[in-house]
This record gives sequence, structure tokens and C-alpha cells, in this order.
Amino acid sequence: MGVLTGKTAIVTGASRGIGKTIAMDLAASGAKIIAVDVLQDQLIETQKEFNAKDFQYFPYVCDVGDYDKVEEFHKKVKQDHGSIDILVNNAGITRDGLIMRMKKADWDSVIHVNLTGVFNLCKIFSRMLMKKAGIIVNISSVIGVMGNAGQVNYSASKAGVIGITKSLAKELSKKGVRVNAVAPGYIQTAMTDKLSDEVKEEMLKNIPLGKLGAPEDISKVVSFLAGPDSSYMTGQVLIVDGGMCI
Ligand code: NAP
Repeated sequence: MGVLTGKTAIVTGASRGIGKTIAMDLAASGAKIIAVDVLQDQLIETQKEFNAKDFQYFPYVCDVGDYDKVEEFHKKVKQDHGSIDILVNNAGITRDGLIMRMKKADWDSVIHVNLTGVFNLCKIFSRMLMKKAGIIVNISSVIGVMGNAGQVNYSASKAGVIGITKSLAKELSKKGVRVNAVAPGYIQTAMTDKLSDEVKEEMLKNIPLGKLGAPEDISKVVSFLAGPDSSYMTGQVLIVDGGMCI
């Protein structure tokens, strides 16, 4: 028995990277995982890893930024699982570029996934969460706090996630729903693997702890926020960045 035994958690972007590790950690604490991602094949591959550990992992294909698809997904969740207790909005993308060169499509796609995606899931699942005094954990970024050249789309989306978190915490607290965010620094995943060695070297100079983070550094904090040990916390943004933002 873990602290989340009997709880059902949606994790978006759960087939790889930080989302997969968050799902693994929540499952290790006993939660049933409803995994959302855009690629079926990747979800099925990841499901095998969960099955091997006897963890419950139910994969669903859904573009979080598409309101109608999230409504369809909500219906399936109701049919298949009844309700949920925890929502982790993790799915996110980058389309970097200096503003002079950034295409409108790069702005739109990042806002679609990173910001509209969080709005869609929070809005459509809010009724379920209110009935269960549920928990929302949103994944923001230090870039939403401190900004970064070449990432106006990403930083705007992640600052927006902080705004959603704080507003919803105030809105849903009367129903006992807690809403918090985690703002990771640079974490070793496919998202940061595509950065050049030069950019990585530069980043490391600004991280007092002198290394990139691991997905587990984020998932442990998410598990804390999704569990009973943080029961008096809401509307908070926990920065997990090796000291970058100090
Ligand atoms: P990742 O390895 O690229 O994983 C992101 C996941 O989200 C992928 O599985 C991706 O699917 C999925 N996804 C993308 N668009 C989606 C959509 N429209 N609907 C549903 N799922 C979608 O990224 P990560 O590094 O693990 O990042 C996870 C979260 O942490 C993101 O919100 C990111 O912004 C945030 N974050 C990451 C870092 C970092 O350094 N890595 C730092 C700060 C914040 P595909 O596999 O099909 O692309």
C-alpha cells in the first residue's frame, strides 16, 4: 500500500521524459495512471514498462490543446474509470527562435499545447476534481519566471501556467481542490538533448549546483504536491533548478 493507493491520476505527456517519470513515481505510490500523449506507439511502448512493474497504466491518445478532443477524452475517462483524483499537466513543447525570426505558427503551437492545453484539462476536469477534493499539479518552467532570449512563446506560455495555477488555487479552494506548480530548470530529456553543446556549456555556468537535473528531481516534487504531505499548500510554484533563479 502506498500513500496514493486508490487514487487515479491523469498525467499528460506521459509517454516519455519528465511526464513518464512523474507517472512512474505516482504509480509506485499506488496511483492508477491515465496516460495522455499524442503518439499511440510511444504510449504502448511505455505501457510495457509499467506492466512489467505491475503498475496500472491506461494510455489515451489526445492532443491536450484541442478542446473537442479533451472533451471526448473526458467522456472516455468517465466511462472507463468513473472519476479522477489528481491531474498533472505536464505535456509541453518548444519552438525556439528570436522574435524577429519566430514564425506565427511557432507562437501558436507552443501556446496551443503549453497554455491552452492546461486550460482545457483544468476546465473540463474541474467538476470531477471538485467532487473529490482533488489535486492539480501544473508543470511550468524557470523560463516562465525569468524569461529567456529566443523563447518568447515558451516563456509566455509557462508564465501563463503560473497565472492559471494561482487563479485556480483561489477559485477551487472552497471545494478543497489544491492547485500548485513546479518550475523546472534544465532537466536532461529529449527537450534539452536537442540543444547544442555550446548552449549547454553556457547554461551550466549559470547553475550553482553545476549540473543538469534528472527527471526524478521533478517527479519527486510532483509526488509531494500530489500527496498528503503537502495538504496545507496551494497556489505555490516550487522552483527546482539547481539554484539557477537565485
Ligand atoms: P519531452 O521529453 O519533449 O516530453 C513532452 C511530452 O509531451 C512528449 O511525450 C510529447 O509527445 C507530449 N506532448 C507534446 N505535445 C502534446 C500534445 N499536444 N498533447 C499531449 N501530449 C503532448 O519534454 P520534457 O522535457 O519531458 O518536458 C515535460 C514538461 O516539463 C514540459 O511541459 C516542459 O515544458 C517542462 N519543462 C522541461 C524542462 C527541461 O529542461 N526538460 C525544463 C522546464 C520545464 P511526443 O513524444 O509525441 O512529442
